[in-house]
Amino acid sequence: MKRLAVLGHPVAHSRSPAMHNAALAELGLAGEWSYEAIDLAPDELESRVRAMEGEGFVGANVTVPHKGAALSLADTLSETAREIGAANTLSFAAGEVRADNTDAQGLLDALPASPRGQRALVLGAGGAARAAVWALLREGAEVDLWNRTALRAERLCAELGGRPVATPEAGAYELTVNTTAVGLRGEDPFAELPLESAGFAAGQTVVDLVYGDRPSLLLAVAGEAGAAVVDGIEVLVRQGALSLETWTGMSAPLDTMRTAARK
Ligand code: NAP
Repeated sequence: MKRLAVLGHPVAHSRSPAMHNAALAELGLAGEWSYEAIDLAPDELESRVRAMEGEGFVGANVTVPHKGAALSLADTLSETAREIGAANTLSFAAGEVRADNTDAQGLLDALPASPRGQRALVLGAGGAARAAVWALLREGAEVDLWNRTALRAERLCAELGGRPVATPEAGAYELTVNTTAVGLRGEDPFAELPLESAGFAAGQTVVDLVYGDRPSLLLAVAGEAGAAVVDGIEVLVRQGALSLETWTGMSAPLDTMRTAARK
């Protein structure tokens, strides 16, 4: 059996096992490959990752809080992972751990159109924001970055590019990407983030990486105003599809993955 996993802490809520096992079944690989969730405390990550190839693992996704540590422990890095400074995809072969980042391309793949030439606002300065800023700049967008802790936004921009802003210009952005955790526990995005509920309109795209069982308040309001909306599950599906293609060399069945991730 070729094993795959998502490594996180906590990880029980992850939709990745359902999404990837459905994809493996669709590809006719269910008897040969499997995908599971493994909860690892930060101090367990390195020793467990080192042991995984010997246990039959071919690769793993890495989620909160391990994305930075996964990069540090890897023997080889993709250019993308190195530049972003975080890894969400590990591959194990010939005693080596290779780290890659599919969060960046996953975000671009989830957008309805290329952000080239667009004014974009990224909210947040954690690991997800790093991938978003890197991806949007590389694709030719002009990126403003806001974070609750301004110093983190300044540091991120000094490293990756983009412009830190204290007060984003209302209504000025064709693309808004929320990478903060706001909304995860029902927080009001219009109270916690520098966004106005009346600031959205047709022609704009709004992405919210946070996802739950219902559409987030941010996406509900933006969608109501006519903006194109992309939720965190679509981004999850897109990054997962790229990881699966890295491990299996096969084209990922997106619709099957979407259906399983949304159940
Ligand atoms: P992280 O490194 O912990 O960063 C969290 C960010 O949220 C920081 O910028 C933090 O600001 C901000 N924040 C937290 N609470 C806030 C509040 N009440 N008001 C304003 N800002 C607040 O986390 P991450 O790895 O970047 O992930 C962020 C979110 O994206 C998580 O909810 C995660 O589940 C989601 N995500 C989804 C996908 C997907 O595929 N859909 C992929 C990656 C991440 P400070 O710097 O001021 O603390």
